[in-house]
Amino acid sequence: MTVPRRKVGSFRRNAPLERLSFYNRRAIREPVRILLLSDIHANLEALEACLAAAPPSDRVVNLGDVVGYGASPNEVIERCRQLGGSYVRGNHDKAICGLSDLEDFNPIAAEAVLWTRQTLTPDNFEWLRSLPQGPIQADDIPGTQFVHGSPLDEDEYVITPRDAVEPMLASQPTLTFFGHTHLQGSFTLDTEQIEGTHPGYLTIGQSESVTFPLNPELRYMINPGSVGQPRDGDWRAAFAVFDTETHVVAFCRAPYNLKAAQDRILDAGLPKRLATRLAAGK
Ligand code: ZN
Repeated sequence: MTVPRRKVGSFRRNAPLERLSFYNRRAIREPVRILLLSDIHANLEALEACLAAAPPSDRVVNLGDVVGYGASPNEVIERCRQLGGSYVRGNHDKAICGLSDLEDFNPIAAEAVLWTRQTLTPDNFEWLRSLPQGPIQADDIPGTQFVHGSPLDEDEYVITPRDAVEPMLASQPTLTFFGHTHLQGSFTLDTEQIEGTHPGYLTIGQSESVTFPLNPELRYMINPGSVGQPRDGDWRAAFAVFDTETHVVAFCRAPYNLKAAQDRILDAGLPKRLATRLAAGK
């Protein structure tokens, strides 16, 4: 299945500058290319592979769950702090810092939460604890918001088109980037219908990207996928890049050193299933 190509809407920057009024001139913002990362889940090998494979970008936005499941929480947090950018908190980030209980976690996820809590340095623990609740927005990117689960509830899973309708209609921003489900893809809402799509890749083991042009007239929820624990049947690390000038989202996959990430999980004494599931991307 391939992502349907859409006509890219005209963009303000195409208009000659001298013909614009002062008001419009002020409205022109510097275009930015945003590297969208989500659900890294303490998988350092996957994060490094994404950063190496990513096209040039101006800014990083992370949609939550930097840690939990994987065995490199300190290394991943330190890499994120180095990268900078904007971060929203995820449900694992919250639970690890004691900001929520473990009620909604299965036993394997809960074990990883407790292990991560014990493993983090005090400084990295404080950094994680300070991450803001979504939605967050950037002043220079109007009409766009960033969340972990849903704009209405940071812990909600938006999996099906039906799940996406209410948050899309309730949001003022027309473009929402979200994570949490570990499923890369998009929901598009026009006046009549909602459509869900997943990028169609050509290989199962190479670095690849699929472009998805946005129509500025429509509403979207876009999930860049999970860097460190994909669940869409593709083991490769997932991420996306959004160009605010061309209004194109590039969905990307990058192969990474799976064996090294698995060995770290096993060496740490974390549940075996957390290592094996990475190979299946499930
Ligand atoms: Zn997650």
